[in-house]
This record gives sequence, C-alpha cells and structure tokens, in this order.
Amino acid sequence: MTELAYLGDMDSAYVRTFPARVVARPPGAVVLDRTYFYPAGGGQPGDRGTLHLPDGREIRVVDVAKSGPSVLHRIKGGPPVAPLEAGTGVEGSIDWARRHRHMRLHTAQHYLSARIFTEDHLRTRKAVLGGRRATIDLEGPLDASRLPDLRVALEEAIARPRDVAIRFVPRAEWDRNPSSERSGLVPLPPQVDPVRVIDIEGWDVCPCGGTHVRSTREIGSVTVEPLAPLPDGASQVAFTIAEDAPPTPPG
Ligand SMILES: [Zn+2]
Repeated sequence: MTELAYLGDMDSAYVRTFPARVVARPPGAVVLDRTYFYPAGGGQPGDRGTLHLPDGREIRVVDVAKSGPSVLHRIKGGPPVAPLEAGTGVEGSIDWARRHRHMRLHTAQHYLSARIFTEDHLRTRKAVLGGRRATIDLEGPLDASRLPDLRVALEEAIARPRDVAIRFVPRAEWDRNPSSERSGLVPLPPQVDPVRVIDIEGWDVCPCGGTHVRSTREIGSVTVEPLAPLPDGASQVAFTIAEDAPPTPPG
C-alpha cells in the first residue's frame, strides 16, 4: 500500500523531492511506502522522474500508475537495480517542469469546463491533458462564436486571479451541493467519502484527485484552438499553455 502524499493539500502538489522506503519490487517497477509522484488518472498523465539510491545510483521513473492500493513507479533501462530490497531508503525526485505544466493544464481545464457549464449548460464528458495541450470533450455542440468569450475568460483568470483550494466535503453534503451537477456525467463511486474537491474561488467546485496550481494566475497565457466536431455531433475544445509559467510574485 502506498500513501498518496500529493493528495492532502495544495502545498503537497508542490513537493518535488521526498524521502520514502521501498516496500515491493514487482517486475519493472518499484512500490514505495509513500509518494508525491502523480499516478496517471482523471486525464492527467503519470509523472516521470528519478529515484536516488543510498549508494549514489539513480533509477529513472518513466511512468507512474495505480495498481489497487499501491502505486507502481515504472522503471526502464539504466543500471541493474538489484539489489534494491524492501526497506531501502530512497529519495524521489519529480520531473518538475513536466508536472507543473500538467498542474497548469489541469486548473485551466477545470476553469474552462466550469465557464462552459455555467454559460452554455454543457458538461464535460472527458478531458485529456498532456505536454502543453489539453482537450475537453463536451456532451453537446458548442457554438464557435463562443470561442472569443472563452479566450477573454482565460485572460480574466490571469488578470484577476482566483485562488485554487482543496477541500474535503462529506459525501452526503456533496450530493446535495448544486455544484455536483457540473461533474454529474461521471458518477462518483458510492464508497467515495469524503469527496476531495478542487475549488476555484467563485467559479467552480469539482471532485478531482489531480494536482493543481494555487492560483489561476499561474496558468499563464493560453491559446484556444478552433472547435473540433466529435462524431456524435458534440464538440471538443482544445487549448495550449505557454512554455513557461508566469514568474511567481514576491511574498
Ligand atoms: Zn480534475
């Protein structure tokens, strides 16, 4: 079993290096007692990075995925990692440039999905994040004339930034919350209680197990692509974030 250390609060999503212990060595992977590596899920790719061993060796982590209660840090190539026995202390180091882009994409996706739900009454069927680009599959057709409004909305999110917070809401309370309507296309499994929600101040509350930036300002500039039709008449919104995040203001 692996403790999902990145889940607890906003600061946990910003941890780049951490100590942990090896608990198992399934083929091609390492299981740790705790991890800040994000395992693929909810449209957000698994992290990459490095495990530093006590003898100075490094193991490349090429993908991270959940497997039941454990998180598999998949390793590839490099020096042979036997002996890397259960109990060995390692330092995990996340490929931060890549992970931070996923955080910026993920918060931008929630914000856009919320704007589209509020203003166009269309829920998001699926979102896929990767590299610097994300796609949002909507449940119905979006009028192309709405794209300039969405661009303005994204500019607003940077010019007048909103705080992003994690809250844990009791399930019964969440089921009564009108915000549950936006994400209602993907029913939460009944055993999820409390519900981890991402709260974009004044705009959105949505259940999510992903990693997000602390403020919409951190998303940086976004380019929205022309709408792509989906085979069933619905539409897909795609956008790309700038290579670099805006510098964090002092204080
Ligand atoms: Zn999410």
